[in-house]
Amino acid sequence: MKQTEFRVPLSALLRPTAPPVAGEALRDALGRPLHDLRISVTDRCNFRCTYCMPRDKFGREHPFLAHDDILRYEEIARLARLFAGLGVRKIRLTGGEPLMRRHLDRLVGMLAQIPGLDLTLTTNGALLARHAAALRAAGLNRVTVSLDALDDAVFRRMSDAHCGVADVLEGIDAAAAAGLGPVKINMVVRRGLNEDQILPLVRRFHGSGHILRFIEYMDVGASNGWRLDDVVSAREILARVAGEFPLEPLDPNYRGEVAERWRFRDGGGELGIIASVTQAFCRDCTRLRLSPEGKLFTCLFAGSGHDLRARLRDGADDAALAAWIGAVWQARNDRYSELRSAAHAPAQRIEMSYIGG
Ligand code: SAM
Ligand code: SF4
Ligand code: SF4
Repeated sequence: MKQTEFRVPLSALLRPTAPPVAGEALRDALGRPLHDLRISVTDRCNFRCTYCMPRDKFGREHPFLAHDDILRYEEIARLARLFAGLGVRKIRLTGGEPLMRRHLDRLVGMLAQIPGLDLTLTTNGALLARHAAALRAAGLNRVTVSLDALDDAVFRRMSDAHCGVADVLEGIDAAAAAGLGPVKINMVVRRGLNEDQILPLVRRFHGSGHILRFIEYMDVGASNGWRLDDVVSAREILARVAGEFPLEPLDPNYRGEVAERWRFRDGGGELGIIASVTQAFCRDCTRLRLSPEGKLFTCLFAGSGHDLRARLRDGADDAALAAWIGAVWQARNDRYSELRSAAHAPAQRIEMSYIGG
């Protein structure tokens, strides 16, 4: 334990300036290029994480989307091609739990045919061991697995799931073995609930080749009763880690990367921090989101979406759809996290389980 070696000044904890993306054209009203697309393939999930889908609000009577309302794989693939033509270089499949959608590898296979795309998936990991090899064979590049605790009791309290930590760890191992690495592991930290799991998770994944990332608990949706007091800040998380594992900052891989990167000084690999609350990164936010039933959201905190499915199913041709998507992006001026306050909060909020992380 070398507590004194954590000497990174506060200024270094601020986000480093990111390099511009080369060759992109389409920019929003604040000059941000369209680079990433997150596709939520379902609003259903086999977990009931207390901070995302608390069981009392997402019980049996919850009106989940009907199958006919969600986009078919062929529809998603057609749109993905148009997004790629507009500058999107990275697609992340998310949910709900994306592996709850049947034959997801079929969709991955369709998306993998689009040239120049980095194809990734975020999952809670419970079903990953079963699907990792098929996803890789279909063309998936990498996975991010959410894991909020190493202790089984804490994990079950956070996720309210019927599986345990061992199942998620098995999924992580299967993903790495299938060639879906480096596996990123996301931990949402909530004050008083799992903050004692920060160091056990660092010890578990230090030197493993996987990249552990801490996420500040966010005020997404309207179900989780979020309070600022529940947030453990990136600065505090880093200080705790660095008390045992000295760290140094790394440059971002590309503009718009959400995680601030750090390296273990002893060569044990890297970790990431997603400081969406205390260090808003709206100015570099290059992400567009497609909901399961085909609405476009220009921000995680947007009050409503733009109905792309209506145009798609009305028979619009590719040129008309691309022009419409382009216009949505060009009008975008969201920066909720930079302004974060009751005054800027939309009256209606979308849920994380609907739009994805
Ligand atoms: N079910 C998949 C999973 O859990 O990985 C994908 C969807 S989930 C909505 C995507 C990510 O959002 C997860 O890493 C989850 O921990 C994170 N998340 C959900 N609610 C959050 C919140 N209120 N604040 C911060 N992160 C949150
Ligand atoms: Fe499900 Fe992911 Fe939300 Fe947890 S965070 S309830 S796993 S969608
Ligand atoms: Fe992007 Fe909206 Fe989050 Fe800001 S608040 S980083 S604009 S999604």
